[in-house]
Amino acid sequence: MMSEKKLQFNSKTIHGGQQPDKAYGAVMPPIYQTSTYAQTTPGGHQGYEYSRSANPTRTALENSLASIENGNYGLAFASGLAAIDAVIKLLSPGDEVVSTNDLYGGSYRLFKQVFEKFGIKFQFIGMQNAAKIETYITDKTKLIWVETPTNPMMNVIDIKAVSTLANKRDILLAVDNTFATPYVQLPLDLGADIVMHSATKYLGGHSDVVVGALVVKNKELADKLYFIQNASGAVCGPMDSFLTLRGIKTLHVRMQRHCENGKAIAEYLDNHPKIEKVYWPGFEDHPNHEIAKSQMSDFGGMISFIPKGSSYKDAIKIVEKLQLFTLAESLGGVESLAGHPASMTHASIPKEEREKSGVVDSLIRLSVGIEDATDLIADLNQAIE
Ligand SMILES: *Cc1c(COP(=O)(O)O)cnc(C)c1O
Repeated sequence: MMSEKKLQFNSKTIHGGQQPDKAYGAVMPPIYQTSTYAQTTPGGHQGYEYSRSANPTRTALENSLASIENGNYGLAFASGLAAIDAVIKLLSPGDEVVSTNDLYGGSYRLFKQVFEKFGIKFQFIGMQNAAKIETYITDKTKLIWVETPTNPMMNVIDIKAVSTLANKRDILLAVDNTFATPYVQLPLDLGADIVMHSATKYLGGHSDVVVGALVVKNKELADKLYFIQNASGAVCGPMDSFLTLRGIKTLHVRMQRHCENGKAIAEYLDNHPKIEKVYWPGFEDHPNHEIAKSQMSDFGGMISFIPKGSSYKDAIKIVEKLQLFTLAESLGGVESLAGHPASMTHASIPKEEREKSGVVDSLIRLSVGIEDATDLIADLNQAIE
């Protein structure tokens, strides 16, 4: 077999970390829907003893995750937030975290409402200027949490610059790579220690699972995270592992179309007289376009925009009028979705905090799917008009 590390990304999605099943040569790993495994003598098993600790279908997914993110170890969780939860459990009371301010609402809620009461301190800051992060670092800072492109403002953070700054001080750098996916951006190659995914989104890609993932290069870090995964128990089940693995096999072809459609729609909106502002990192006048070009191979399928002179009510009217775009939480599936961050994904962030990062009441977020772009544009056109 060809050395796996040498495979191109478009082959790794299909073959990375995968071998035909040992029992009958099944090309797709069977769904090992079992909690436990027969032992011949106490401890005499074939690598699996209880499915919280490990399950062969989950192992297949974890190996695939490690491969596509250019890491050495993958861990699959019951949700993206369960994966983040495991990362924060590496810390102790008194430790500090510096986090992107414009991030997934659920991550913010987990940090502020769950972990702060255990004595972990979080600071939320704009990170477009990496040098600025330094002023928030103290000798208690143990983790920098980066989400890029940010949700929903589509700011881009320079992963390499942040990793240089973190490495100098032995601070862990974790990157939420949900929006970009490894097709577009490889944080571990840029110096991050941990890559996190809500595999619910692009990796799964079909809006049919809730799954989370972590990928790391370092063995010691992998062991610590594995200990937490097993000790806390928020693991990805065998059926969801199977579905996510199936999704990953087409990640590259889906992402190519997401990116093409994203570009077509961003340009359409940008030229529309009734649209005030479009947030998409592919525009040359996007404030972080140069960094985006250097660390991303394309610009993804996520776009946010503000209709001209619009209010909370106008934005709601537009998202209600859309027909092909479904009004729904989530993103990254083959079908196009529209959302209203202020009342949906980001409602758990206080209005004042939200608006500081630009998430105003009239902002609309699109997850552009892989339908025909002509139909998507026609749908947007009727809703905006
Ligand atoms: C959805 C999402 C999460 C949370 O993942 P779940 O699978 O819903 O728990 C975290 N980060 C980003 C960027 C997301 O979009």
